[in-house]
Amino acid sequence: MENKDTIIHNIEIIKKRIIRACEKSNRTPEEVKLLLATKTVPAERIKIALNYGYTLIGENRVQEVKGKGDELKDTPHQQHFIGHLQTNKIKDLLKYPVTCIESLDRVGLAERLDKRLANKGKTIDVLLQINTSNEESKFGVHPGDAIEFARQVAQFQHLKIKGLMTIGLFSAELERVRACFRLLRDIQQKIQQEDISGVEMKELSMGMSGDLEVAIEEGATIVRVGTAIFGERIYPDSYYWNEEK
Ligand SMILES: *Cc1c(COP(=O)(O)O)cnc(C)c1O
Repeated sequence: MENKDTIIHNIEIIKKRIIRACEKSNRTPEEVKLLLATKTVPAERIKIALNYGYTLIGENRVQEVKGKGDELKDTPHQQHFIGHLQTNKIKDLLKYPVTCIESLDRVGLAERLDKRLANKGKTIDVLLQINTSNEESKFGVHPGDAIEFARQVAQFQHLKIKGLMTIGLFSAELERVRACFRLLRDIQQKIQQEDISGVEMKELSMGMSGDLEVAIEEGATIVRVGTAIFGERIYPDSYYWNEEK
């Protein structure tokens, strides 16, 4: 019971933070979706949030999508994939009802995804992941290569580009974090100007527990929140971003 109340209480706090950030930047809260970053969170705790009405979740590892798939299948929700995806895990991932891969970061991955989806007669939404902090430890396409990447991915008929995703810098200096989010928005505008056939650029997935206000001020349409709702994780985040470990 205490567990349940904590999760709901935390969601309410996040909701208030989103509303306040929207007010500050003259946006409406309906423009910002809250994605629950559920890595390491057991299915029964995720269900508390789903039953409370927050039904968009994101996993980082195919293993976890698989592990929780059965337990979550009867609770209505929508699932995105937000982690580094290895090509040899594509087949497994596509067995589950994932509607969007937010972390598309290589042409080779796009090609393999497209092939699999073609076989299944399906399409999937994708966001292009951009490395806005220019850190080697982060996945994502270099900002200077983003337009070319969008053009290449647009050629794959079974991938529907909906926007961009970034992780941004982990820093207490919020103005440096803001620069990452602003860069993502600049790239969004540049790609829009290219007017590439089949490319939509509505979604900007950016902002996490510590920096969602800044992200919303810079135009986020999806904020991905884990720790502030489900509590601290025991492993460093790099562990979850790397499928190889
Ligand atoms: C874990 C994770 C988040 C959420 O981070 P928190 O700091 O726990 O809110 C968001 N995006 C990605 C890609 C993540 O891996």
